[in-house]
Amino acid sequence: MKILVLNCGSSSLKYQLVDMQTEQALAKGLVERIGIENSRIVHQKGEGEKVTIEQDIPNHQVAVQLAIDALLHTGHGVITDVKEISAAGHRVVHGGENFSQAAIVTDEVKKAIAECSSLAPLHNPANLVGIEACEKILDVKQVVVFDTAFHQTMPEKAFMYALPYGLYEKYKVRRYGFHGTSHKYVSVQAAALLGKPIADLKLISCHLGNGASVCAINAGKCIDTSMGLTPLEGLIMGTRTGDMDPAAVTFVMEKEKLSPAGMDDLMNKTSGVHGVSGVSSDFRDLEQAATDGNERAKLALDMYAYRVAKYIGAYTAAMNGVDAIIFTAGVGENGASTRKDICEYLGYLGVSINDERNGKRGIEIDISADNAKTRVVVIPTNEELTIARETLQLIK
Ligand code: ADP
Repeated sequence: MKILVLNCGSSSLKYQLVDMQTEQALAKGLVERIGIENSRIVHQKGEGEKVTIEQDIPNHQVAVQLAIDALLHTGHGVITDVKEISAAGHRVVHGGENFSQAAIVTDEVKKAIAECSSLAPLHNPANLVGIEACEKILDVKQVVVFDTAFHQTMPEKAFMYALPYGLYEKYKVRRYGFHGTSHKYVSVQAAALLGKPIADLKLISCHLGNGASVCAINAGKCIDTSMGLTPLEGLIMGTRTGDMDPAAVTFVMEKEKLSPAGMDDLMNKTSGVHGVSGVSSDFRDLEQAATDGNERAKLALDMYAYRVAKYIGAYTAAMNGVDAIIFTAGVGENGASTRKDICEYLGYLGVSINDERNGKRGIEIDISADNAKTRVVVIPTNEELTIARETLQLIK
């Protein structure tokens, strides 16, 4: 059985066709600049060469059609008939309090996704457009998998903000958390790697990509996570502030005469390690700059590792212990020196990493020293596979 996994952004569409027997991606691709000039599709069959086709792509329906055409292509395609696609699974960013798990797409589900649009104005409308584009082209069941769903097990004391309670009742202002699909996937894989049932484990998962979040997972269930109402809260990220005094927001707005949208832009797009260093949001550039003696790049990296370590301490307290810490996503999987910097704070937990293992890439690996009490593992994330697995489960 083959499942098409789709992730629609406002001007982009990522797709992957997953073979559920082998759980491998047969092909994947990215349609970029939908509705903008110079749009194109970059398609890759298996691990083969990437093929780029530049053409006018006015809307998401054309984008979905192009993705399917690429999958059917006699050269770089991987299927001969569109009927080989058994179902489509969509990544949806915000499910609000409506969804604690994936769901089959119905009119009610689409309505509920639209209702969450005020919580994710950039993402949910684009996700819906992708679902509707697929409906017109493919005659298959569709499933939606939410970034927020895994975090719906958080207790009230973890998800409530100490604002007047009426704001929660009126607008559902609370912590939702994101990257749920990734935290769920890596926690399951980590338990398997450690050879223990997930029900017996207290795990702290660190998804460190452009966006970054930490999640406390007790017995397979999320009990707390660092992102909040939006993906801005928690860790310092590539271009996002993460935690700070909320009063700094109104202070800066007044001083700089910024509108809410202007301040939102500043906190999301020009802050984080990029804002502090003035160099880049990419950790490879930051590490190079720090090595070359750039003090602010060094400061940004120090602040980043310190913040992650503080969250690990907090979540250890929340679970009254931790058995393993998981690193995943771009920085978590590749940034050996960032992992090391974070782990240096954690000696009190019995964390100790083996430098040779920490230098390995691209595999699931326990990078702890042999005698370490708390394990540290690196798990390459695979959100598409999780979406495909959940889609399969629902359509069965
Ligand atoms: P996204 O949140 O966009 O999915 P990724 O998980 O792909 O992000 O992470 C992208 C980030 O990973 C890059 O911005 C870069 O900082 C980091 N990264 C990629 N390769 C390396 C590397 N070799 N060393 C350190 N950081 C890396």
